[in-house]
Amino acid sequence: MNSNKKDIRSLSKQELRTFFESIGDKSFRGNQVYEWLWTKGAHTFEAMTNLSLETRKHLEDNFVINHIQVDQIQKSADGTIKNAVRLHDNLIVESVLIPTKNRTTACVSSQVGCSLDCKFCATAKLKRMRNLNPDEIYDQIVAIDRESRLYFDRPLSNIVFMGMGEPLMNYKNVMASIDKITSPEGLGMSPKRITLSTSGVPKMIKKLADDKVKFKLAVSLHSAIQETRKSIMPFAESFTLVDLKEALQYWYQNTKSKVSYEYVVWKGINDKREDIDALVDFCGYLPCKVNLIEYNPIGEDQFHQADSKALDAYISALEKNRIPVTVRRSRGKDIDAACGQLANKQ
Ligand code: SAH
Repeated sequence: MNSNKKDIRSLSKQELRTFFESIGDKSFRGNQVYEWLWTKGAHTFEAMTNLSLETRKHLEDNFVINHIQVDQIQKSADGTIKNAVRLHDNLIVESVLIPTKNRTTACVSSQVGCSLDCKFCATAKLKRMRNLNPDEIYDQIVAIDRESRLYFDRPLSNIVFMGMGEPLMNYKNVMASIDKITSPEGLGMSPKRITLSTSGVPKMIKKLADDKVKFKLAVSLHSAIQETRKSIMPFAESFTLVDLKEALQYWYQNTKSKVSYEYVVWKGINDKREDIDALVDFCGYLPCKVNLIEYNPIGEDQFHQADSKALDAYISALEKNRIPVTVRRSRGKDIDAACGQLANKQ
């Protein structure tokens, strides 16, 4: 646990430069420190060997360097790896490395717990404890990049914000982390390899469009009927499908980027003809694709994966209407690393 000194990683490069000016030093020291923190991943001031001892002591007296620690690594039979990540205040979040033939995808958390209340999601049961800082999000990705090199002999290739939390409820920090991930001083990754998944916060989707972001957007839709959606995702009472539709159209007009809808089909909840018709209608509002995802049971009696007949009916209706559809199988189920299962069970 750290004292009340400020976390130096919460400062921008410009703020670091200004700090050095304010103590009568050269502003380019700010660049040097920034590089130590973000490119070289230094965890101590001692490691910053191109700074004088006096400067390092001065930093030590004024700041701390908060960083995450991967406490526990669990490996699934299918190659998926789940990290339990300890934060500087001892809270834990989880992140997941998902290997496929040609890719390594990092699934990262954006909050400790979650602000929203989706009834089928294990993370929702934790409630939101706090937002993650940009560096805490960035560090999860750096840790997975290292594991990918170590276990799969290749760097991380993709990132999805589909871990714990609602990224659009932690907008500023998530954007700052993506800036670091994509900047040459950070990981230099292309934003096209990043997907942000949201439960659907209309105002913030519009803000993404206004901010002209270059990454991809996924929306956890699960139902295109307002009443049904509200019954399984209660926050949808205030974030309605009408507002969501309008925000997504705004997103598309401004970014020309297709949206992916995440969709689980549950028995007795959204497996009827009217559910399928509503989804097809909703897909007509803007260019999109649909990911049908497998349900990962979290011990809620209300929710059971629909049978394959219902799934096939969805697929054929979507295909008939020329809406691209994929069926995504779960990964890492045996270690509770699949979608919706992240809940710090250990
Ligand atoms: N809050 C964001 C990101 C985290 S959830 C969002 O909702 O998009 C990542 C994905 O897992 C979402 O599509 C979510 O709806 C889905 N999900 C949640 N619980 C699940 C479960 N038990 N089985 C399958 N998918 C689930």
